[in-house]
Amino acid sequence: MTLKERDNAYVAGTYNRFPLEILAGKGSTVYDENGKAYIDLTSGIGVTSFGIADDEWQAAITAQIGKVQHMSNLYYTEPCARLAELLCQKTGMQKVFFSNSGAEANECAIKIARKYAADTKGADCYTIATLNNSFHGRTLTTLAATGQAHYHELFQPLTPGFVHIDPTMESLKAAAGAHKLAAVMIECIQGEGGVVPLDKAFVQALKAYTEENDILLIVDEVQTGNGRTGSLYAYMQYGITPDVVTTAKGLAGGLPLGATLFAEKVKNVLGFGDHGSTFGGNPVCCAAACSILERIDDDLLRQVREKSAFLFSAFSGAAGIETVTGMGLMIGLKTVKPASQIVAACMAKGVLCLTAKDKVRLLPALNIPMDTLRQAADVICGVCAE
Ligand SMILES: *Cc1c(COP(=O)(O)O)cnc(C)c1O
Repeated sequence: MTLKERDNAYVAGTYNRFPLEILAGKGSTVYDENGKAYIDLTSGIGVTSFGIADDEWQAAITAQIGKVQHMSNLYYTEPCARLAELLCQKTGMQKVFFSNSGAEANECAIKIARKYAADTKGADCYTIATLNNSFHGRTLTTLAATGQAHYHELFQPLTPGFVHIDPTMESLKAAAGAHKLAAVMIECIQGEGGVVPLDKAFVQALKAYTEENDILLIVDEVQTGNGRTGSLYAYMQYGITPDVVTTAKGLAGGLPLGATLFAEKVKNVLGFGDHGSTFGGNPVCCAAACSILERIDDDLLRQVREKSAFLFSAFSGAAGIETVTGMGLMIGLKTVKPASQIVAACMAKGVLCLTAKDKVRLLPALNIPMDTLRQAADVICGVCAE
């Protein structure tokens, strides 16, 4: 059997894979089974923050693997404490819970919101408002949080206690009138929803309202976090401080790690035994994440914003491109031709892109060289103009 036949025969059929095997890569270049090179503008959906097989990242992982690859959360390990300290120092958050994925980071945030609301307002206060067109994960509870009906249909009944609203204060207040709200959860830029940034005035009004009413504000930075949008976390560009921040994808540069960050108000909501994860805080994943976070400094973030400005100017008004949305190196293109057709044509020309709903989505590595990015943008513009 060919690899493709074996995969199709034995791997659950949840992914409609491209007919491409990636054997290896370096930085923002990957190679298929025939040795053909591609510029990678996907980063494994925003995961490989510093590209494929990055040297510094590899060194951090291999050093830790040679010491201890895993213990359990019954013992202290150094990378876990170091990463939590680093996250708190860089954000002003006070405590961190580690898990293995974005969905799990959000599950933890939802648990925090329920416990905080039950403790402070009573057991009947548990509803969490999330936005229409949002994406928060694939577990039953994070699916319930996700404000896109087509993800829900096959898996009823979902976890109760969620209400979906439009990103307006009227919609929020209507929900707050109908339900006792424990929390509001948002993505500053809806990623899977089609790279849709929220309006800054709405986010600031939402922050003021949640603070006034002691409703927790949870910001899902699973996709937007860790330098992706040109600041360490996207909320920093919205001029707000959330009560809970969740992140995953790019955090450990390609190893599975989720983190839920708690501000002062909720830092002690979870106590001994209230939550846990076997792999959460794994020393190798945490060592990887430390190596990533230490490199996301002001200079790197400035370069992300410069590359972003280059892409916005290359695509804005280009033939076959209707709109350019996003922030930093998280970019959505509404193209005249269907996004899937653009992605296929770019792949044939050696550039890997993603889709998000009806958009072409670009999530290149944060350190993609400028000339590589220019080359890729030329290919995309050419394909869109055809
Ligand atoms: C990808 C994503 C998730 C889910 O992350 P997993 O690691 O796949 O569980 C949650 N929220 C947002 C905003 C995402 O982009």
